[in-house]
Amino acid sequence: SLTLAHTDPELQAAIEAENQRQEDHIELIASENYCSPAVMEAQGSQMTNKYAEGYPGKRYYGGCEFVDIAENLAIERVKKLFNADYANVQPHSGSQANQAVFLALLQPGDTILGMSLAHGGHLTHGAKVNVSGKLFNAVQYGIKEDTGEIDFDNVRAMALEHRPKLIIGGFSAYSKRIDWQKFKDIADEIGAYFMVDMAHVAGLVAADVYPSPVNIADVTTSTTHKTLRGPRGGIILAKANPEIEKKLNSLVFPGIQGGPLMHVIAAKATAFKEALEPEFKTYQAQVVDNAQVMAKVFIERGYNVVSGGTENHLFLLDLIDKDITGKDAEARLGEAHITVNKNSVPNDPKSPFVTSGLRLGTPAGTTRGFGHEEFSAMTHWICDILDDMENDEVVKSVKAKVASMCRQFPVYG
Ligand code: PLP
Repeated sequence: SLTLAHTDPELQAAIEAENQRQEDHIELIASENYCSPAVMEAQGSQMTNKYAEGYPGKRYYGGCEFVDIAENLAIERVKKLFNADYANVQPHSGSQANQAVFLALLQPGDTILGMSLAHGGHLTHGAKVNVSGKLFNAVQYGIKEDTGEIDFDNVRAMALEHRPKLIIGGFSAYSKRIDWQKFKDIADEIGAYFMVDMAHVAGLVAADVYPSPVNIADVTTSTTHKTLRGPRGGIILAKANPEIEKKLNSLVFPGIQGGPLMHVIAAKATAFKEALEPEFKTYQAQVVDNAQVMAKVFIERGYNVVSGGTENHLFLLDLIDKDITGKDAEARLGEAHITVNKNSVPNDPKSPFVTSGLRLGTPAGTTRGFGHEEFSAMTHWICDILDDMENDEVVKSVKAKVASMCRQFPVYG
């Protein structure tokens, strides 16, 4: 037999162990989700074998008639999902999508204005260690430390002072709604492009439970694997603008990428179909509800939630006053099979490797069927552990309760 178990038992065992880990752990990493078996089937298909440089109908290789169908389905469906005039479904990831946009709209050395990593932005929005911060003159805005909300006075002041050619909206750790038009007005005032990276909230946007940037921003990028619940990948959307569309297409290929991952594009197509179903709206509404349930329990238990609650799928827990590091909290919860990530919080005295906070999100748990009852219970368990960090008995007892809850809600069955 040619199954992996026979040809490569060593790798097969690692995959099986990862499957089991996903079944046995409560996943609270806000950027993760469980895609459907249909998405995995498409991604595991023979489309992985096909070279298809170019775009549907305009390829540099023969034999593309069927992968063209897959890519056209992905394009048409994602345009419908987000009410977008233009879509490119080829970016290998969110980072590549952002890179393509920057290189399409800017010249090296140009100034860009994005949200700082420390305040909830993403590495690709101009962080020093990322190519976006090396190739461009990146200036960064942040949040108001008292309210935890984006400081639009500061965004405007920085825009007027530095005259960026591109303003970037979007985040990896921010829990409030965003009035995208405020960014657009500032961009218009200085003649800058406005790009939104909606990677985190794309699923919420698709389901109309979070404001859509798609027809406000000049260009919108996203990943497809977070709240959107598709395969790991990226997309670029835009309002109709033939000049920008042409630049975006040529920057993705041949600009920064070679052959598109046709199996991933096929999986994107079927994920977008799922996202167009009415159940997807119900799911996304539950994701937000569940995040609000968690935030409420933390507050009742005396924990600080940054910005006092959440309006999307995630929030930050600020542990400064508890004198617990994010690193230790992440490790201790991990021992009880609750997976979270440490995250810097406003005014964090600790380094990004240690931090004083946790980022928590509900997309994955909601996919496996956890509702208010489960999210409320697990939040109490998290507080039990954080209240008494040295207590091994508490960790042991929570781990048993986690195991039982996970068994009750299998991910893939
Ligand atoms: N943009 C945002 C806002 C993100 O949160 C992330 C992922 O963490 C990315 C882009 C990068 O996506 P990828 O990991 O697919 O390159």
